[in-house]
Amino acid sequence: MDFIHDIEKSRQPVNAVRNIMKTRVFEDLDVPNFAERTRAFLKIQDGCNNFCTFCIIPWSRGLSRSRDPKSIIHQAHQLVDAGYKEIVLTGIHTGGYGDDLENYRLSDLLWDLDRVDGLERIRISSIEASQIDEKMLDVLNRSSKMCRHLHIPLQAGDDTVLKRMRRKYTTEEFYNKMGLIRQAMPDVGITTDVIVGFPGETDEMFRNGYDLMKAIQFSEMHVFPYSKRTGTPAARMEDQVDDEVKNARVHELIDLSEQLQLAYAQRFVGQILEVIPEREYKGAPSGSKMQGYSDNYLQLIFNGSSELEGQLCRVKLTKAGVNECEGELISVMDNGLRAAAQ
Ligand code: SF4
Repeated sequence: MDFIHDIEKSRQPVNAVRNIMKTRVFEDLDVPNFAERTRAFLKIQDGCNNFCTFCIIPWSRGLSRSRDPKSIIHQAHQLVDAGYKEIVLTGIHTGGYGDDLENYRLSDLLWDLDRVDGLERIRISSIEASQIDEKMLDVLNRSSKMCRHLHIPLQAGDDTVLKRMRRKYTTEEFYNKMGLIRQAMPDVGITTDVIVGFPGETDEMFRNGYDLMKAIQFSEMHVFPYSKRTGTPAARMEDQVDDEVKNARVHELIDLSEQLQLAYAQRFVGQILEVIPEREYKGAPSGSKMQGYSDNYLQLIFNGSSELEGQLCRVKLTKAGVNECEGELISVMDNGLRAAAQ
């Protein structure tokens, strides 16, 4: 034991890591990730400048920095040549792309990607409501390659909580922005993240959030109980919420999410959606069913075998479900057919 006490007294903090706040250049590793063999995840951005009070990311990943547009476009061409039809743009704070570039925003990148021949779908992993400006609304409205799916973190649906979280919008601004997005891109599925039980969240504040989420009609919500991140301002706040209260609120929002997921899927029953099958569906005899995501991020299970993998298919949604929907293969599209269909 004495030995341990000696070490504790004499040890110095380990400081072998460079100061991440001084990193201002995107480390271009040039290695995309892949979901199955159909979607490629292309990292375009790292770090974040926002400093939300619950989040450690700006401290651990540094400030926002963007990958060089030429390098992204080059890699997009390579991915298309390798057979990928969908690219998911990822980052720590993806919508912050371009904040450190001169006169080049995420919307400019999206138009440049829109011109990549053979690329069928562009998805953004996540974007903040405040980053959806006029130019972005225009891309959503006019680019046929942009998926009808956006992930926009709300985090909390009460103005007092949002302020304490140091988020950059009010509930009214967020709600109004969702309206503008839906005008620009009808039928878009909007998914979100919510933190439940942030310090100081009262029943009334939680209820305000519940009502707002219901009014916005998200197509899915990822619900997380607040958990302290050492070193963040929120970890030092008073009025931490009891775990039991947090859990009850989490369950309430998961139930709401399931209702909203089903309601969103039901709107598409009878409609034909474009789906890229990712893999065989395990719950059916081998070679009989495939599963994949539609552009608006509904998971469809439909008749077909693995030779459909990675191809753009037209699938009629026949039965809506919470996490999976059933469908019927109508046709397989090649690029020429898609162009003709537009
Ligand atoms: S929650 Fe998102 S926006 Fe806020 S600091 Fe973390 S990464 Fe940045």
